Amino acid sequence: MAKILEIAELGQEVLRQRAAEINNIQDPGVQELIDDMIVTCAHANGVGLAAPQVFESKRIFIVSSHPNDRYPNAPEMNPTAVLNPEILSVSENKLIDWEGCLSIPGIRGLVPRHQSIRVKYTTRHGGTIETEYSDFIARIFQHEFDHINGVVFPDRMETSHDLVTEKEYRRILSEKG
Ligand code: ZN
Repeated sequence: MAKILEIAELGQEVLRQRAAEINNIQDPGVQELIDDMIVTCAHANGVGLAAPQVFESKRIFIVSSHPNDRYPNAPEMNPTAVLNPEILSVSENKLIDWEGCLSIPGIRGLVPRHQSIRVKYTTRHGGTIETEYSDFIARIFQHEFDHINGVVFPDRMETSHDLVTEKEYRRILSEKG
């Protein structure tokens, strides 16, 4: 039975470390961690979650895009476990948009990200996927990829003036209509 894991918040050393490669995908501990991360991500209503965010310094993350009140235009997808990912190439074009992070509660920031990326990763069943993502999914992938390298979204911001509280973020969204 999958369980909800505690989320590491900014200040925890594990969020600033380079996470380790997964060598044995079939390891029951790895499969259990993936199940727990999927449940934890859904419970927190997140669109992504990286293993260091649940105190596991491993190169695994979940991408789980779905529309919600924070991201009304997000595409719907099944939670996908990404292991040992690589970013093979990136578009020159970057888009700036709002991001938040389960490890940095109550804060939002405007973050530039590559609009599209070509990636390669291992699935939880040991297969290799090479594909291209764009827009919102590309943004989640880059955000989670940063987590396994000890990077958090404020590190990617152009200026701290683009940092707002959750309350003000909602006001900005409602004013945009
Ligand atoms: Zn995050």
